[in-house]
Parts: sequence; structure tokens; C-alpha cells
Amino acid sequence: MRVDHLAAPLGIGAERPRLSWKLAASTRAQHAYWVRVLDAGSGQLLWDSEKVDSPESLVVPYAGTELGSRRRCEWRVKIWGDSGESEWSEPARFETGLLDRSDWTAEFITPDCDEDTTQSLPCPWLRREFNLTGEVVSARLYITALGVYQAEINGLHVGGDILRPGWTSYRHRLCYQTYDVTTLLRSGSNAIGVVLADGWARGNLGFRPRRNRYTDRLALLAQLEIRLVDGSEVRVASDGAWRSATGPLLASDLYNGEIYDARFEFLGWSAPGFDDHDWAGVRRLDWPAALVAPVGPPVRRIETVDPVTIGTSPSGKAILDFGQNLVGRLRIRAEGGSGRQITLRHAEVLEDGELFTQALRFADATDRYTLKGAGKEEWEPEFTFHGFRYAEVDGWPGEIKPSDIQAVVCHSDMERTGWFKCSNEEVNRLHENIVWSLRGNFLDIPTDCPQRSERLGWTGDIQVFAPTACLLYDVCGVLRSWLADLAADQLPDGGVPAVIPDIVSDDLPAISSAAGWADAAVLVPWTLYRHYGDPGILDAQYGSMRAWVEHVRRLAGEKLVWDSGFQFGDWLDPTAPPDKPYQARADRHLVATAYFARSTETLCLAAGVLGNTSDAREYAGLAAGIKQAFRARYTPDGLRSSGSQTEIVLALEFGLLTPDQEPSAVDRLVELIQQEDYCLGTGFLGTPGICQVLSDHGREDVAYALLLQKECPSWLYPVTRGATTIWERWDAIKPDGTINPGEMLSFNHYAYGAVGAWLYGTVIGLQIIEPGWRRFRVAPRPGGGLGWVEAHLESPHGPIDARWEQRGDRLEIEVGIPPGATADVVLPTGEARTLTSGRHALSSRSPKS
Ligand code: BGC
Repeated sequence: MRVDHLAAPLGIGAERPRLSWKLAASTRAQHAYWVRVLDAGSGQLLWDSEKVDSPESLVVPYAGTELGSRRRCEWRVKIWGDSGESEWSEPARFETGLLDRSDWTAEFITPDCDEDTTQSLPCPWLRREFNLTGEVVSARLYITALGVYQAEINGLHVGGDILRPGWTSYRHRLCYQTYDVTTLLRSGSNAIGVVLADGWARGNLGFRPRRNRYTDRLALLAQLEIRLVDGSEVRVASDGAWRSATGPLLASDLYNGEIYDARFEFLGWSAPGFDDHDWAGVRRLDWPAALVAPVGPPVRRIETVDPVTIGTSPSGKAILDFGQNLVGRLRIRAEGGSGRQITLRHAEVLEDGELFTQALRFADATDRYTLKGAGKEEWEPEFTFHGFRYAEVDGWPGEIKPSDIQAVVCHSDMERTGWFKCSNEEVNRLHENIVWSLRGNFLDIPTDCPQRSERLGWTGDIQVFAPTACLLYDVCGVLRSWLADLAADQLPDGGVPAVIPDIVSDDLPAISSAAGWADAAVLVPWTLYRHYGDPGILDAQYGSMRAWVEHVRRLAGEKLVWDSGFQFGDWLDPTAPPDKPYQARADRHLVATAYFARSTETLCLAAGVLGNTSDAREYAGLAAGIKQAFRARYTPDGLRSSGSQTEIVLALEFGLLTPDQEPSAVDRLVELIQQEDYCLGTGFLGTPGICQVLSDHGREDVAYALLLQKECPSWLYPVTRGATTIWERWDAIKPDGTINPGEMLSFNHYAYGAVGAWLYGTVIGLQIIEPGWRRFRVAPRPGGGLGWVEAHLESPHGPIDARWEQRGDRLEIEVGIPPGATADVVLPTGEARTLTSGRHALSSRSPKS
């Protein structure tokens, strides 16, 4: 059972949450449902849907009594299926947060001291004591910060999440968190303490890194609401009574890392009785942004990874190899004399046995810990993260043992939804690399890369990767939140900043209208709608989607060809010079007009879903006009003389050619691929669709040849070079073994992982027909010498399984369909069958490869 896509959420922001449930495997289909929502405290019935004849089990809108703030609800659902009426489900819970700004009596507070905020500063510790005159029945902490925070009550950490409140468009929407802190409080004296650090709001940020992007003062907003056994309510809010000081965390920065001196630790600072008489007070600060409840999961420590080797570099430094390029930080356990400093540096690759840090640009990615000298000390930086596989350790007391240092993998705590395996181990590693690049780049927002001085929500990267991301993990929450920021940061003329949250459009307004990047405004909501079956996503984004298309319409003018202004184009096309990643073979205006058509057509579909028939008509007409203009300008000969794989891929993928032009365009694409000896000639925009258009036009033989190619540029080339994540550029490590001298040198960039959608959509053949996977296609396209392929998808309706195996001249297929869903199975011979819930085995004549 889910509420607005979240399991048992605390502190939701919606007045009318939408309820979803999955049917038990024993239920084949749902014909009717009944939902009851009660106030969890009083038992009052808030909504009784009564029996509704409907198969709907996704995002059913709550339609009861107004919930208001702080409402604790319990809900149950029962359904009628083929075998009659079910029992009531176990109850599930949700609770509303503070829905109105007037619910907050807390004020933003900042340490009462003057600071030179041009440089990194010691982090502030804030605390307050309070007395409770009775047993605590329940307590909630509503909290956020300008900067990032970690809260403690009576010496214990609040919540297991990190880097809160995450990154949003802070000037428009600042997220607050809600924690159940009932068990941390007690009758008598209590204390709450909060540490603040620079994070995204004040630390270095941007590809031209600068501090103080959002604020030059860190601030806390906290409201602790406690209910006592006698029914009384106590509220402890951030106000003028708090105390502040700086402590052991001497510097903290997302790019540069942390400097921590354990000798300055405050013992018992977040418990009552601590002597804070020499601490300073606090000042009030205004921050007018809307305070919003998160719609996505928090960032957490997800797992730890042990070093696989501990060696020594030629210069004599200890080098740890974790065997996997990952994102997070190190946790160390060390014992040594007081004042000894341990230095931890991070990098994704080694060059001549030493850390290669050039690719980090301005990010120092260095953590320093000074021992207090009191036995075994354990430390992990709190407010930073690094992208690394290797760590260099300096100053370690004695010899490093494997159990002394672990890597802690951190990212948004999303549910894994997609698994893929086949008989080719290199393809499996490619899939794993895509998964790891997703994990490394979903840290509260979808980022381009996690290691260098960038880590920004580049629109183009997620635009191409979203269809794959939705298969691998439940990214709905992270991307819904990010899209809300996109709409909030959209410019008055409809332009979409190239990074969201926007920190670039003031300096570089021109890059707010780049095809394939800004189109994320339209294409990402559509992708989410298709996967998660939630038209509310389209509804929430519709204004933003439309504003972008209208903006391009103005830029293109009456000719409907978008041939002016800045474009990133087919970014990082393999022939582009290392220092000119935009110099692609594909004509950038052709690319721009192709995306104009694609977004307009998608907007038209969205209008249709939302029942906006006049817009649907309007944008259908506009899309037809753009296609005509595209053909007149760019494809009078059907792209038969094009020299760019990407131009043909986009024209085919977006349906821009006439049916009679398509065969020759496909032939030309194949010819171009053959000229490259079956290597890729595509950048960010051409890569995602290349295999798909080939298999859609009967050339999966060529698509498989591209997939299985090991020479550079190809997907498997990095795998042969030991890659454990997807690289930003095809030749980040060149065939001669040297590291590419270009500036774009991330080893953890998910964009080229967009081929994942083809592995699921074509190789195993799982494709959405009706949103939310209510109806889907299973149309395996065996090839490439693969003996078997299997995939598992945790869809919004439940688990989907598919497997095929070549046995002699037969193809054996197994399909698992979740309750309430239908699958159209299309065998390679073309024979089609419609199947419903359950497990099915089919056998077909094998296609000749
Ligand atoms: C990022 C990209 C991004 C690009 C804009 C780079 O610095 O890492 O992935 O999309 O700039 O073209």
C-alpha cells in the first residue's frame, strides 16, 4: 500500500493524497475496491469510498474530510476479484505534515557571530534544553535548514538519513522533514542539538564553483511538537533561546570534503546538563521560500564496501581499491596519538599507480581527521560525498587493516525495481555499470556526475536516461521533486535552465534554451506517467511543459524550424575534439527542430490524457507543421546523404520521415555504422535511440552488433577496460591505455547507460502499452548469439518476469504477469497472444538470426 507513491509516509504535503495498492499474487484481477481512511487517534472515519466498481489500484485520490496538518491516518482496502471479496487489508499509515506556513511558530535562526563567508568556516553546533513535566505520548520534529543539518535529541541521532534537507530550488521550495521522535524524549530535562554545514546552500557549487549561491548564512528551522500523557502539548521551536558554538568540524564542503578535529568534540552536547555558558546566542533570519514536504525518499547510507586491495603507490602512499566506482565516503576506525592527522583522498582511477585527480577539476575530495587519542576512534564525514573507487590514505597510525576502512555507499533510498541477466557476462557487467551509475547519480536530485566540481541536475542527462532509470529503480519520488524544481526555476519566457535546481541561468542565460536538455521539461514527466501510471504528474507539470513548447515555438518562428541560438547538440559525439564536446557531426539545428517536434507531440499526448481537447488539437496541428517543416528543410532526400548516425536516429525515433523515406534512411544508417566498423558515432542525444530504431526497422542484427562491439567507441569497450560504471565519454581511457586529456572526464555519468531501456524493451522485449504497466507487451527479439535472457521488473501493478532461452531451433519463453495486468506476447515469428495474470510458458520457432 502506497500513499503518493511512498510507503507509510510521515509528514506528507498533499491535502488529497492518492492511494495505491498491489494485489496479492493469488488475486488475478480486481473488479471493485473499497477504501476506508480513519483518524488513527480518534478512530473517526475520514473517508469511506464505499464499493467502487473499478479495476483501478493506482493513485486513487482521497476524497474524504479535509485532512489539514498533522493528521495521522490509518487506511485499509478490500477488493473484489475473480474469487469474490477479499478480507480488509492490514492497516497502513500516513500522516500529514505542516501544510500551512502559519503552522510554523519556529523561526530561522543563525549563530550570533560575524563571519567572513568568502571562505570555508567551522560548522556551527546549536542546542537548547527544555523540561517536560510528564510522560511523552508522541512527538514530532519538523525541521529544515539553510545548509545541511544533522539533529540529535538527548544524545541520539534523529532519523537515519543524511544530507538533509537535500537540494531543491531553495528560493522557491525548501523541504522540511518530519521525524517521529517519541522514543528519544523523556519526562524531565531534555535537550535538542543540531549541527549545520554548508552543503548546497552555502558551499562551493557549480561548474564554475562559487560559494554562497543561495545564502551566506547557515540557518536552522526546527519545531518539536510533543504530546504528554495528560493531554497537554509542548512546543520547542527554534527561537532566540538557542545557543551556538563551533566545534570539531573545522570545514565542510560537498566538493572539497571535511576537516574534523576530534580534540574539539563536545561531550554530551545534545544531552541535558551540558555547560554551554560560553556558547554564543543566535539571531533570527528571514527565508521566505515555501516550506514543502518531500515527495521523494531521503538520502541514506545504503551499504558498505570493503577494500579489495590495500597497496602502496610508487610515491609511497597507501592506496585502497574498493573494486567498484561508487559514491559516498569512507568510514575509518583508527587508534593513535592525540593530534595525529589522517588524510583521505579520493579518485575514480589511477594513473601510473597514483590517484588521478585531474578529472575532479576543482573538487579537492579530501577528508582530514585529527585523532583525539582516546583508544579506537571511529569517524565518517557527515556532510560531504565523493565519487571514487580508490582512496589514498596518509598519516595512518601503523599498518592499515582491511577492517579499518570501509566505503559507505550513499544515495536516495529508492526501491530497486529492475533486474536483467543474460548469457553474456560482459553485457551483464554493462547492466551492472548502468545500475551503479544510477546509484551514484541519484543523490536527492538526478545529477550528471558525482565526483568533480559539478554534480548538477543537468536536464539533458536525465532527459535521455529517465526511461532506463524508471526500469531499474523507483525514481518516481526523486524525479517528481526535481520536476517541481524545474517548474519553479523555469524562466518567465518558458526557458528551462540547463541545470535544475538552477544556479546557472543568471550567469549563462543562453544555455536555458538548449534542445534535448530543456526538453526534459516535457519528456521526463511523460516518461514518469508511462511508468508509474500517474496522470497527476502530467497535471502538476502541464503548465511547465506547455511553457517550454511555446517558448521554442517563438524561437522557431513561423517557419517552424529552430535554427538559431545556442545548442549543446549531440554532445560528446566521438569525433568531437576533446576540448570542443559540442562539435558534433549532427547538424545542431536539425537536432533542435527534431526535439521541437518530439516535445510538441508529447505535449499533445499529455493534453489528451488530461482531457484538454483544445490543446490536444492545437499541438497535434503544430507537431504536424513542424514535421513538415523539418522534412522540407532537412530531409528532402530522406537523409540518404546524411553523414551522421544521430541525425538519422532522431528522425526515425521521433517519426519525422515519411513512411517511404524510412527504408532508405535505415539503409543509410546501417551504411554509416558499417563505415565505422560497427562502432557508435553518436553522442548524448543519438545514443539512447540507436539500437531501438534499428530493431524497430528490422535491423536488430546491426543493433546487436553495436551492443556487442568491444572496440571503441562502444558500450562494451569500457567494460573490457575494467569499467564498473558508465563513462561520460566513450574513450575516457583511450585504447592505448592513456587517460583522455579532455575536460569532460567523469567515469560515472549515466547518459550512455540509456541503452538499458533497449535491453529491457527489445532484447527481453518488455514494453509498456498502458501506463503503469497495466497492459504491456512481451516481444523478445533474440539475437547476438545470446543463449538466454531474463528480467524481473517490480511494476506498479506487481512483479513482471520474462525469460527466453534458445533450445535448438526453438525459443522457449516464460512470462509472469502481475494481478490486474494483461500482456500481449508477440513471438519472434509474429504470432501474438494476449495473456492475463499468472505464469505462462510458450514455445516458438526460433527466428533465423
Ligand atoms: C555535464 C554534462 C552536461 C553538459 C552540458 C557537462 O559538464 O557533465 O553531462 O549535460 O555539461 O552539455
